[in-house]
Amino acid sequence: MAFHTILGQEHALALLQKALVSTRLGHAYLFYGPSGVGKRLMALQFAKALSCHGTAAEACDRCTSCHKIDTGNHPDVVVVNPEGTSIRIEHIRALQRQLSYKPYESQRTVIIIDGCESLTPPAANALLKTLEEPPASALLLLLASKKDVLPLTIISRCQQIPFRPLAPSYIRALLVQQGVDQATAAIAATLAEGRLDTWTQTDISQALARRQNAYALLQERGHTRNTPLFLLARQYAGSREQCEEVLHWLSLFCRDLVMLKVAATPQLYNSDLQAELADLTSSLAVESLLDLFASLQQLRHYLTMNVNPQLTFEQLVMQLQQLLGTPSLAEDAS
Ligand SMILES: [Zn+2]
Repeated sequence: MAFHTILGQEHALALLQKALVSTRLGHAYLFYGPSGVGKRLMALQFAKALSCHGTAAEACDRCTSCHKIDTGNHPDVVVVNPEGTSIRIEHIRALQRQLSYKPYESQRTVIIIDGCESLTPPAANALLKTLEEPPASALLLLLASKKDVLPLTIISRCQQIPFRPLAPSYIRALLVQQGVDQATAAIAATLAEGRLDTWTQTDISQALARRQNAYALLQERGHTRNTPLFLLARQYAGSREQCEEVLHWLSLFCRDLVMLKVAATPQLYNSDLQAELADLTSSLAVESLLDLFASLQQLRHYLTMNVNPQLTFEQLVMQLQQLLGTPSLAEDAS
């Protein structure tokens, strides 16, 4: 798998390809951007292109060097991952020892440090020493989901390569390639927030089930006809994540309902439910939907501040009842 197979990171790719053909390849690059958008894959392809026995500017995918990197067996390409939640000074010392020897088979020893935001302060200090005086044969690729958590002294010694969230069209195509059906892939891609690691097949079916729960709540305006409120609340209280997901779906529904009210050709997140949502809008006012949207954001914020999910869920149901009214009242009014 060579560079051309990396989708959606054309800017990063162009910067790296330029570096590869120039005579002044840097000693350290910082790849930063959200997780699940291809930083690690790009780092490995970069290492392959550098060590490939072929003559082209990108990896041939056939030579022994490419094969060894693909299988994680190249002696001059080292990948460091966080152990538990941190990358500690021992890890950095181990790679410094490796860098003190000449590369075995290639011109360069490539060190890929994935999850640099997990460097402990002593590890970051030790790494800084290597970045200040890198051995001539060293190439360090630092991968971080957030740039601003790294010390400025480290950032300033690296050439910076930004990675962006993936476009929904790429995510949809990749999910379909993995065997997900078109309709599900389209919904999942819209909700993946630009990251491929957001979804697995199981996640998608779970998410769709939770979307159904959120939709039922919305349809009944919080008046849960079949399940007593306290039972539902207890069910959600068990999981902050579940509660967050229902709030997320409700926000998307709210947004879709407003779009249906105000836009001539609305682009919906839940496009598969367009007809049903259009029916629902007839009994709802834009102002109420906007108020509900604002309180959903507020509840999501509370949840991040460790507020009890059961309390959050109960507040949500009350907001639904207050802002959207009961289905029977709305039906009477229409
Ligand atoms: Zn090759």
